[in-house]
Amino acid sequence: MVRKKIVAGNWKMNKNLFEGKQLVEDILHSGIELRDDVAVVIAPPFISLEMTASLIKDRTGFFLAAQNCHQEKSGAFTGEVSAEMLKSVGVDYVILGHSERREYFGETDAVLAKKVDAVLAQEMKVIYCCGEPLQIREAGTQNNHIQTQIENGLFHLSETAIKDVVIAYEPIWAIGTGLTASDEQAQDMHAFIRGLIAQKYGAEIADATSILYGGSAKPSNAAGLFAQPDVDGGLIGGASLVAADFAGVVKAR
Ligand code: PEP
Repeated sequence: MVRKKIVAGNWKMNKNLFEGKQLVEDILHSGIELRDDVAVVIAPPFISLEMTASLIKDRTGFFLAAQNCHQEKSGAFTGEVSAEMLKSVGVDYVILGHSERREYFGETDAVLAKKVDAVLAQEMKVIYCCGEPLQIREAGTQNNHIQTQIENGLFHLSETAIKDVVIAYEPIWAIGTGLTASDEQAQDMHAFIRGLIAQKYGAEIADATSILYGGSAKPSNAAGLFAQPDVDGGLIGGASLVAADFAGVVKAR
């Protein structure tokens, strides 16, 4: 089974509409040539989704992601955006459970499980983030931490539904800090996550699940990370804001 290799750029709360348009155009003109099994995903802020959708629509291998969505279908949730709304502007993937959403917006695994359902119900794919803080890594209990996040957020899904989920392992101590997990630390955790999926859903589904690494990935370290057998690509923050850097990471895949 050849699983999809994915490089996703999470812009977070950066770039206004005009800056975002420039960045997408620069990425599209950066000489990226994609193999058939590689996908590039761009996750701009909500205001730039429609613009990005129209710029990438004729480029094979480029997909659009949102950074969050609300779990309810519609209603009195001022300031929120539903999965159905995202679908209507051409979103392919929704990032859920990013550590910043968990930390600053109080998103729990229970809420995330509902968001996962809302996204899958609209026939979009989920990029489900998990990751441990530094003190958990130092205590050596990171596997338990990740297992809980994955079981609580995803393991209510059917065998059919889990096939539309991509997992992003993002150790919090490596996000935006310049500290990257070593190739070995990333591989160990990715293999552990794939093992969890295999136990629950079987080896075939586990083999087909893309597991991305996130945390200060950049052109200079991406090749080493991506060479690991269970690292299928990356979720890129800071380096996704500079076209040449993002293209450099994509080319390493
Ligand atoms: C992220 O927040 O998803 C991320 C990986 O950020 P950075 O690449 O900046 O560490």
